[in-house]
Amino acid sequence: MRKINKIIIHCADTPDDKDFCVADIDRWHKEFGWDGCGYHRIITKSGRVETGRADAKIGIHCSGHNNDSIGICLIGRREFNLRQLTALRNLIADYKDKFPHATVHGHNEFSTKTCPNFNVKEWYENLNNN
Ligand SMILES: [Zn+2]
Repeated sequence: MRKINKIIIHCADTPDDKDFCVADIDRWHKEFGWDGCGYHRIITKSGRVETGRADAKIGIHCSGHNNDSIGICLIGRREFNLRQLTALRNLIADYKDKFPHATVHGHNEFSTKTCPNFNVKEWYENLNNN
């Protein structure tokens, strides 16, 4: 297994009133010429966690940080629902069991992109203080 130092959260930048799944993202990323879905996990609007690629495989989701990170993508753009955020919290907890030293970030900490359109660090710190 490669060394994982970061867990990076993204959004799919898809309309908030529509759900999509890993097969959609896989298709879109293949259209970019990539070898399938660039994220490791997808969280659908219903809160289902889908596998985009194996954790051992380097992702394509955060320029300059792919080698040592896991990429998680929330379907939607801004309005993430409680099922999604609960699934995200549980998924991060699972990854923190496997990779205790990994830190949690939003894509926007490493990019001029606004993705995932919320402050992941603040959200994650608040979770752990409650
Ligand atoms: Zn992103």
